Amino acid sequence: MVSPLHSNGRAELQDDKVVTSFGDLATKPDIRPELLLRLSGKLQTTLELSQLLEIFFNEIQQAVLVDGLSFTHNGHNLLLSYGRNSVHSANYRLQTRQDYMGDLTFHRSTRFREHELANLEGLLTTLVYPMRNALRYHEALAAAFRDPLTGAGNRVALDKTLSREIELAKRHGQELSVLMLDLDHFKLINDEFGHSMGDKVLQESARCMTDCIRQTDMCFRYGGEEFLILLSNAESAGALRIAERIRQSIARMDFSNDKGQLQVTTSIGCATMHLDDNVESLVQRADEALYLAKRRGRDRVVCDTDEGETEMLQQTEVR
Ligand code: GH3
Ligand code: MG
Ligand code: MG
Repeated sequence: MVSPLHSNGRAELQDDKVVTSFGDLATKPDIRPELLLRLSGKLQTTLELSQLLEIFFNEIQQAVLVDGLSFTHNGHNLLLSYGRNSVHSANYRLQTRQDYMGDLTFHRSTRFREHELANLEGLLTTLVYPMRNALRYHEALAAAFRDPLTGAGNRVALDKTLSREIELAKRHGQELSVLMLDLDHFKLINDEFGHSMGDKVLQESARCMTDCIRQTDMCFRYGGEEFLILLSNAESAGALRIAERIRQSIARMDFSNDKGQLQVTTSIGCATMHLDDNVESLVQRADEALYLAKRRGRDRVVCDTDEGETEMLQQTEVR
């Protein structure tokens, strides 16, 4: 089903129109059947969301000329755009009885006529099921890279992302920092409050981390109660600030229950990329800084840039 939200949505243009695809008075689509057939054939050639929408945008031009098409799906945090934005727009929600499949907006510099809107709605019906399949494919792919407990990226995602981000940062002469975080005395939480409380602490801590970083930064579950955060465009001082914000935000959470008082602290190691760094060397410096944070009493942030730290590290035995 294609539900029209509103067309020509800019109120000041005075051309708002309620569009309905139901009822006798509604304008009927007038699209050549061979065009619809060709469009549905092409839409079946891909499961990739961005390709699917690009095919749709290009193919519909033969029936209705549009300047741009944008697609949003809040649940999946998706925003895809094709062509260009214009003053006039027509918005539609794609929905089956079970699934919400996002909102589409067509843009044009001249207002949409009633028969054109009817045609757009006719064209949209061919998109519904390919779109549902593409979204399911997108979900399956996303799940393969996500830790099911915390929603953070998993190790597979981390390995894929980190080397790419290091390459990109070097190529564009940008800074890159990583934070290695480890919840303190986590084993005690499991032992004294039970495993499900441990899981809850992991989930809430991961949420704290993602709340404290920008949308372009990424949070991964590195191991049991260890996380790695990738901060793009962040030099050492910026990374330290974010690390401190995360540390405080986790420490403010209160998990106390009838078994007792429960607050959680975190130790964080912070490392900023050098030009000769690779994945291993960068992660190792963050890990070494984390080790120092633990040695110094936990519940603190230690940075790899502190000269004294390296020296002290060499004198200490490996974990
Ligand atoms: P430290 O301050 O030195 O980091 O001590 P710690 O107790 O946090 O570290 P340790 O490595 O001794 O214990 C980590 C514990 O995390 C042990 C493991 O059972 C627990 N753990 C790992 N993954 C999970 C999980 O998914 N859920 C729960 N509830 N516990 C987990
Ligand atoms: Mg720990
Ligand atoms: Mg640990």
